Amino acid sequence: MARVAFIGLGNMGGGMAANLAKAGHDVRAFDLSPEALDRAKAAGCLPVASAAEAVDGAEAIITMLPAGKHVAQVYAEAVFGNAPPAAILIDCSTIDVTTARQVATDAQAKGLEAVDAPVSGGIAAANAGTLTFMVGGSQSAFELAQPFLEAMGKAVIHAGASGAGQAVKMCNNLILGATMIATCEGFALAEKLGLDAQTFYDIASKATAQSWSMTSYCPVPGVGPESPADRDYQGGFAAALMLKDLRLAMDAAEQAGATVPMGTRSRDLYEAFADAGHGNLDFSAIIKTFQSASVQGTS
Ligand code: NAD
Repeated sequence: MARVAFIGLGNMGGGMAANLAKAGHDVRAFDLSPEALDRAKAAGCLPVASAAEAVDGAEAIITMLPAGKHVAQVYAEAVFGNAPPAAILIDCSTIDVTTARQVATDAQAKGLEAVDAPVSGGIAAANAGTLTFMVGGSQSAFELAQPFLEAMGKAVIHAGASGAGQAVKMCNNLILGATMIATCEGFALAEKLGLDAQTFYDIASKATAQSWSMTSYCPVPGVGPESPADRDYQGGFAAALMLKDLRLAMDAAEQAGATVPMGTRSRDLYEAFADAGHGNLDFSAIIKTFQSASVQGTS
C-alpha cells in the first residue's frame, strides 16, 4: 500500500480520503479547517500541519478543492518543489479547463505526471466509494492514477489528454442542468393543465421525455424513485454547485467559440435561483421557480 497526500477534506474529500485509508493506504491529510482534520483522523488518516508536509514522500498527491485558483495555489506553493519525482498528481476538484491544462503543463515541465480527474456523484457517492471519475492526461499518467481512483469509485474512465476530464464534466453538467430545468417546466405545466403528477410521470417516463433528471432524480416529491425532492430538497447536489459548473461551461464555450443558448439560459435561471437565497437546496428544487408564478413573473 502507498503513501498518499490528500489535500481538501471537505464534503467530498473527507469521504474520499477515508476510503483510501480504508483500502489500506497511508493517507497524510491536510485541510485549512481543523474540524476537517479531526474528521480525517477519526476516519483513519494521519492529519499533518501543511500541504507541503502531506506531499513530502507521497506516491500519489490528491487534491479536492473548491475551484481553480485554490488548485493553482496549492500546486505552486506546496506540490511543486515537494513532490517526489515519481509521484502522480491527481486533481479531483471541478475546475476550469484552462487551469487544469496549465497545472498539467507546469507539472510536466518539472518532470511530474499529472491528471485532472473530476467526479460525478455527490457526497453520498464520495462516502460510499462509488464515484465516477473522468480522467484527463497521458496514458501513463492515467495508469498511475487508476488504482488510487478505483479505491474511491465505481468507474474510472480515461477521457483524453490533460483537461479532457474537466471538459467532459462541464459538458455533462450543461446537459444535466438543461434537462433538469426542462423536466421541471414540464411537470409544472402538467400540473397547471390539471394532470396528476404520477400519471404524467408514468407516461412521460416511458415516452420520449425520459431522462436521468426524470427517472432517477424526479423533481416532484413522491414520484419516481427516492430523490432529494422527497427530503424537501435537502442534501443531494446543491443548486449553487450546479451554477458553478454552468459558469465553468459558459466560460469554456466562450473560449471555444461554441453556441450554447440552453446552457446560457440554464446558467441565468440557476443564478436567479441562487440569488433568491436557494443556493443550498438541491438543484432539482428549481421546480419551485416554475410552480410559483410570482418568482418567474409568468403564469
Ligand atoms: P467543500 O467546500 O466542502 O471542501 C473544500 C475543502 O477544501 C474545504 O474543507 C476547505 O477548507 C479546503 N481548502 C480550501 N483551500 C484549501 C487550501 N489552500 N489548502 C487546504 N485545504 C483547502 O467542497 P466539496 O463539496 O468537497 O467540493 C470539492 C470539489 O468537488 C469542488 O470543486 C466541487 O465543485 C466538486 N464536486 C462537489 C460535489 C458535491 O456534491 N459536493 C459533487 C461533484 C464535484
